[in-house]
Formats: sequence, C-alpha cells, structure tokens
Amino acid sequence: MADERKYAGFVCTGCGIGERLDAGQLEQTAKRDGKMTTCQQHEMLCSKEGVQMIRDTIDSEGATNIMIAACSRRAKVEAFNFTDVAMSRANLREGVIWSRPDTDENRETTQELADDYIRMACAEVKFMHKPNMSGEQQVTRDILVVGGGVTGMTAALETAAAGFPVHLVEKTGELGGWAARWHKRIPGRAAADGVENGTNADLPMPQKNDIADMIAAVEGNDLITVHLNSTLTKTSGAPGRFSADITTESGSTATENFGAIIQASGWKEFDASAIPSLGSSNADVVSNVELEALAKAAGDGPIKRPSDGKEVKSVVFVQNAGQASKEEGHLPYHSGIGDLIAIKQAMYFKAQNGKDCDTTILFDNLRTPGAAGEDFYRSGQQQMVIFSKGQVGEVTSSGNGASVSFRDLILDEDVSLDADLVVLDLGMVPNSGPDPYAVTVALEKLPLEERDAAQAGIEAEVASVTIESILNLDYRQGTDLPHLSNGFTDSHFICFPYETRRTGIYSCGPVRRPMDIKQAQDDATGAAMKAIQAAVNAGQGSGAHPRVGDLSYPTFRKEGCTQCKRCTVECPFGAINEDEERYPLFNESRCRRCGTCMGACPVRVISFENYSIDSVGQQIKNVEVPDEFEEKPRILVLACENDAYPALDQAAMSGQEISPWARVIPVRCLGSVSLSWVTDSLNNGFDGIVMMGCQRGDDYQCHFVRGSTMAAERMAKVGDTLSTLNLEPERVIVHEVAITDIERAPRLIKEMEEVVEKVGMSPFKF
Ligand code: SF4
Ligand code: SF4
Repeated sequence: MADERKYAGFVCTGCGIGERLDAGQLEQTAKRDGKMTTCQQHEMLCSKEGVQMIRDTIDSEGATNIMIAACSRRAKVEAFNFTDVAMSRANLREGVIWSRPDTDENRETTQELADDYIRMACAEVKFMHKPNMSGEQQVTRDILVVGGGVTGMTAALETAAAGFPVHLVEKTGELGGWAARWHKRIPGRAAADGVENGTNADLPMPQKNDIADMIAAVEGNDLITVHLNSTLTKTSGAPGRFSADITTESGSTATENFGAIIQASGWKEFDASAIPSLGSSNADVVSNVELEALAKAAGDGPIKRPSDGKEVKSVVFVQNAGQASKEEGHLPYHSGIGDLIAIKQAMYFKAQNGKDCDTTILFDNLRTPGAAGEDFYRSGQQQMVIFSKGQVGEVTSSGNGASVSFRDLILDEDVSLDADLVVLDLGMVPNSGPDPYAVTVALEKLPLEERDAAQAGIEAEVASVTIESILNLDYRQGTDLPHLSNGFTDSHFICFPYETRRTGIYSCGPVRRPMDIKQAQDDATGAAMKAIQAAVNAGQGSGAHPRVGDLSYPTFRKEGCTQCKRCTVECPFGAINEDEERYPLFNESRCRRCGTCMGACPVRVISFENYSIDSVGQQIKNVEVPDEFEEKPRILVLACENDAYPALDQAAMSGQEISPWARVIPVRCLGSVSLSWVTDSLNNGFDGIVMMGCQRGDDYQCHFVRGSTMAAERMAKVGDTLSTLNLEPERVIVHEVAITDIERAPRLIKEMEEVVEKVGMSPFKF
C-alpha cells in the first residue's frame, strides 16, 4: 500500500532565531536529513499569517505530519493547535538561542544544536500518528457521592447546582454526619474589618450550627437522590461508565450508572483507650467529640461534668493528645484542627458557665491557620481563655474531676493542674477503606535484598487486619483508593489535590486530611468540579490531569506480548485489567497517558499514537554524534515534561546557559523511559545520560504519582548494562528536579559535562 503520509516542516525566524541561526541551513537539514517533503520559513510562525501558512499547507498539500521549529513546545500551544495532523516541535528559541551566549566562538556549536533539534523533531514526527480520536461517546453524567456528612452534602449540592444529577449514598439512617452532633461551628471568616482599629468588637465567635438547613436543601433538591442505610457493594467500570451496586441494610440492591464518583467517607475519632496515660477511663475526662454532646444537652445553660452533674467551674483542654502522648500506639500525625475546636469549646464555657469559668488550653504546637483562625485565636484571648504551652505527661484522677501533669515549656518546670473536667483533642482517623498497596508499601521500606524473604509475613499481617471497604471496586488492583502514609486517601497534594490514583474517583474532606467544616466545604466544591470535568472529558475521549485534552491512549501489540503483567502491576492508576486470555486490557478512560506501562514493557509492545519507543528512540538515533577526536561530547537529557523541562525553559528565559553538548528530550514521565533508550544512546556514542524526574517517596511530586519511583527502580539496574558495555557507572544519573529548580537543572547537566571530562569520551563513537 502506498505511503499516504506527507511530511511538512516549518521554521520560524522570529524572536531572534533568524539573527542567531542560519535558517537556510535549518531548512536544508529538515529536507535533507529530516526527509521533510517541504519546509518553509516564516518571520513569525505564531502570527495569524504564519498559522494560516501552516493551515494552507495541510489543506492544499495534504500534509499529515508536520514539524514546527520555533519556540518550546510549552509555548504558543493555542496558536499551534493542529489536531488533524501529527505534530512535533523543535525548541529553537528556549532550547537553543536563549540558552546559548551570543558570541562568535559559540556560533558553530549553537548551529549544531539547532540542526540536531531539527533532525530530532523530524524523526519524532515520522513515528507519530494523528491521535485516533474516539470522538464523542455516550457516557453517563450522573455523579455518585459516597458519604452524607457536610463534605458529601456539599459535593452533592454543588454538583446539582451545575446541573448534574447526583446519587448520595449514606450508610447510616440520616444525613449530617459528625456535624449534626456539633453544638456550634468554628467561624469560617476573619473579622469583617480587622482589629486594627483597636475595638476588637468584630472578632469572630462560634457560629450557629446550620447543618439542618443543609440537610433540608439536599432533601429538597430534585437533582439529588438520597440512599440512606446504604453502602456500595460493587463498583466497576471507568469514568463516564461506572456501574455501582447500592445495597440497603435490608439487602435490596439497585444498580446505577455514573460518570464519576466522589468519596466523602469522612473520619472517626482516634481511640483514646489505646493510651492509658490519657486517663480516658475517668468519667470527667472526655474527648472533644463528647464535649459537643454535653454542651448541646445543656442548651444555653451551664455545661455539667458527667461524673456527678456538677456545673463545671474549671476545664483543661489537652491539645493534640493522640499524637503528643508518644505512648505506643499514639496517633502518628497532628490533630490539625483540634486547636480551633478547643477555642470554640472554651468559649462555650465562657458563654454558658460564666466568664469566671477557668478555661486553659494546654498546647505544645498551637495551630490556628489563616486569617480566620488567627482572628478566632485573638477572640479566645479576648474572652480570657488561657493558653499555656506545655508538654503533657499524664492525666490522672484527682478525687474531684481530674489532674493534668505537664512540663511547662515557658517556665521549664513540671507542674500539674486540677480541673472539674479535662477535654482531650484526640484527632481524626480517616474512613478510607483498605489500602490496595499495603503490602507493596511495606516491602518498599525494606532493602531490595530483604524483600523476598519478608513478603509472605507482610502479606499475612496485612490480611489479618479487616477494614471495611468503602467503594468495593471491582478492580484488579484492589477494592479501594490507595493511601498516603497515614491512611488518608492519596492525591497529588500540591498540584491536583482531588485527583486520586483511580481516575474519575475523587476524594475530599477529612478522608483526605484533617479539616474543619469550612475547609471540607471548599474541598467538596473542588472535588465536585473535578468529578464533572471527568465525566465530560470521558465523553470526549480526553485524558484527565495532567494531560487534559490528550486524545491518544495506549495500545499494545498482542502478538508480541509475553503476558508478563508488568504493565498491569506498574500502572499507577489501575487502568489495566486482564482479559479472559490474560492479556492486558486497557481502560481508555481510566488511563492518564503517563506512559509508565510503555516504560515497563520488556518487549516494547506498548505505544501511543503520539508517543512511543520509536518516537523517542529515533530522536536519539538522529542526533549527530561527532567522532572522538572532535572533543564535542553528547549528553542525552531525558526531562520530565511536567517539572524538569519547564525548569530548563525557565532557565533559558532567565538567561542561564545550558551546556551546548546537551540534547534534551521531554518525556511524559520518567516512568515512561524505556531501558532501550539508554542502551541505544550509549551504543550510539552518547557520553553521558541525565534523567530528570519529579520527587518520589511519601511526599512525592511526581505528576503520575508512582512514575518516578518506578523509573528509579528500573534505573537501579542500569549499572548491569553499563558494566556489560564496559562503561563507567557515573555516565548515567537520575535526578529529582522540581519546576522551581531553574538554576539547579542546568547545573546538573554541567556536572555531567565534568564527569565526561573526567572519565573521557565514550569509546562507542564512530
Ligand atoms: S499510560 Fe499510564 S495510566 Fe495509562 S495504562 Fe499506561 S501506565 Fe496506566
Ligand atoms: S508489559 Fe508488555 S509483555 Fe508484559 S503484559 Fe504488558 S504488554 Fe504484555
């Protein structure tokens, strides 16, 4: 069959490119080496006329694959938005002229750099295909919300306000969750006009609990269907076509279809009985949750202590008690919002038991974040609440209430305080369901050589703990959302706080981190917007964060697949199941287009239309590697497109120099890097390889969560390849690079230049 592809190149001479580079030579390079059928120059390719020139070439000459040599692929994205062709970009502006000094002695190496980027972009586009758009698909736009507390109800109301139908599933018999038990709320706003005028009159006070209004709004909304006394017994599918079995306590099941899911399953209180020194067996030692019930029962009257009904005249709040005790089994993280709760509750006593009621908040590390929190703290001070900095030792019975012994951290002495009532701030434990990766996470904490021996024991330990599932996902990878280290649902805490590792399923509220009502409402609103976006994106066949709008998706060559399951296991998003013949089964709308499966596949049978082993491998092969006598080393830089590549662009924009020997290729994620690219480049005579990915580990910044971790594990084995080739191990290095590493990223390349100087040029040059 005749090749129906037509290749067209375009070279921009604007932004100073024409003055610094020989554009005629670039055009010739594109035609001669890059095999472009045509190549045209334009003085400003991103202008209306320039874009029209490209459009006319596509339409009149039937170009199917175009190469644009201009600015970075991160710039002018809207101008160069040609979705009906395959397109590559050669970065001549940031990547060449802005990162190289404009001197006569640099002219030759700068032109060589530009010529290489032209060759690489031409090679790349030849191995790209126009995304095989699946087009508009029939999907369900209904949204499922799990959890009927403040977070879930807010998510439901916000989703309905945007016109999307919602099903709200609550496992108890009523809506409202914990908030329905609260006497009053923490104020959500700072003082209206600040406190600078010295009046303090406006300082925020505990607010009326308006949860009943919210419940009424949910129950009265025609777009919201509430399922009480219900849980999810099976959830399957993918964004746009989830199917959920909603089962009632009585055992009846209804199956509904959804476009996206919001998990707002909330929290439970840390169990104080795990820590005897907190004295919770004493009736006059209560948790801050129990105090709400006492305050509510008192109405506007005085709060009484549980042991004998005596009106409370003195109360001590022990802050962050779950973590601060440091006893075995203590909470491993801060209670987060406990200090705001304590200020609110101290004010209950001032209002209901009288201004002379002694209220002491005993803290080690007081947290009242934001303007609203700061004003609420001042409000507490104004109400004569005492704040005392101390390290709690023990809570004991005093015969009349309880006694708290502590180290006063201001006076540096051991003291104790007797009170009618002691209130413990215990902290929130997330209701997140079992972690599908509990075994993997435990194993990863061990050195590689100990993992095999430890595996069976860890599996048995994990299996012995029964945790109720929230979602009952019918996924090969497990029933629930993956966790962060302390059991909260995992999501990218910096860039995409609601995006979990299960595409189309969003978590919000205290199941994500400890938070108060106001924060949970903001969180729920964000998650609702993301869920709507996921359902709509699925209808367009487009990817979710961070590759929103990417219409490509991975496919694999079945005849080459060895059924090793590496792709299935390494996919960070649970996007790959197995079919009945045990071949990988890709769920297109669960896929985030990271390419980790492509990097994992040992037989290289996975590819995207616009990103493949060949589209990168051929770029490497098309770099002109000078022979060893020229003393012009070549350093391959594989840079994550999310952080490292933009950091290099920014470096160029701020006038920093980048090594003329570097040839930078952006990759979707370091997880997509194939070992074959490393071996090919070494065999082709590259002298060094620098891989730049995002931070990995518990506080990861990898946009694809596990991609850079998977890459680091794979690259740990690169040493074998290097020793087979008889090359020095320091020729290949993996760095964690953040988008803010604008000065560091070029320096890391420079360091490889120095390594090559030390160990010598590659013996594999031709
Ligand atoms: S591209 Fe990423 S998200 Fe998609 S199937 Fe492969 S590993 Fe999973
Ligand atoms: S990694 Fe490659 S060979 Fe292994 S199952 Fe996946 S597609 Fe098949």
